[in-house]
Amino acid sequence: MIFASDLDRTLIYSEKFLEGTSCAVSLVERGKYRSYMTRPAVELLRQIAGEMTFVPCTTRTIEQYHRIQLFQTEIVPRYAVVSNGANLLIRGTPDISYRTKMSRMLATDCLAPEDMFVEFNKIASEEWAAPMRQADGVFYYCIIDRLKAPLGLVQAFAQWAERKGWAVSVQERKLYLVPQLVNKWTALKRVMELTGDNRVVAAGDSLLDLPLVKGAEYAISPSHGELYLQQKELNAGNAGWDFTKACGIAAGEELLRAVLNKNTTTEQGGY
Ligand SMILES: [Mg+2]
Repeated sequence: MIFASDLDRTLIYSEKFLEGTSCAVSLVERGKYRSYMTRPAVELLRQIAGEMTFVPCTTRTIEQYHRIQLFQTEIVPRYAVVSNGANLLIRGTPDISYRTKMSRMLATDCLAPEDMFVEFNKIASEEWAAPMRQADGVFYYCIIDRLKAPLGLVQAFAQWAERKGWAVSVQERKLYLVPQLVNKWTALKRVMELTGDNRVVAAGDSLLDLPLVKGAEYAISPSHGELYLQQKELNAGNAGWDFTKACGIAAGEELLRAVLNKNTTTEQGGY
């Protein structure tokens, strides 16, 4: 079984999530940007990685992913989906054939990135949006001031972008513009082909994780973030998708326990 998990605000948490928590935590990303997990969460993930194929699935760029020391030295996944699915790392190196196929599809299936860039800049102003940056040559993101951003205009732009094959997602202070084709599930399907394993349990907190959540046979999301805010009501009664009771860094630990239980139940034939 594969455990496909988003990282930021699902498994790993920045400093600000530590406020008010009394949990013992481990530093999993050192340097300028720091990330943490609770200590029990690190042990649970170690156990999961020993029993299942753990695949980190992140919107981080290749370089940003490599900053997480935990996955370089202690729990080293064979596969990692990065750049929101535009790249698949196998033992830390991009899978070139996957990337080539992806680039070919991108050339025909959505509005060209440079045209999307121009259109976004027509609605963006320096009042609320910092300059757009391109990530791994595939998608865009910028820091925004959520309080000053004209939500109606951004929403209308998101609907227009959707018709052009792009997705708009806001997470914390970042706004992402991502071709719909570039998603974590597309890359995970390649992992399923390579491993011959098509049973997937997933975890994620944002709209960019929705393809993972929908594709997996079971998914769990923390009780914070875009999915919680926008999908919790719609999801009520869906046995294949749970939300944690905890929010913040404790949710990371809780969802790992749920994943481990799911694997144990499956091994006992009770799925
Ligand atoms: Mg996330």
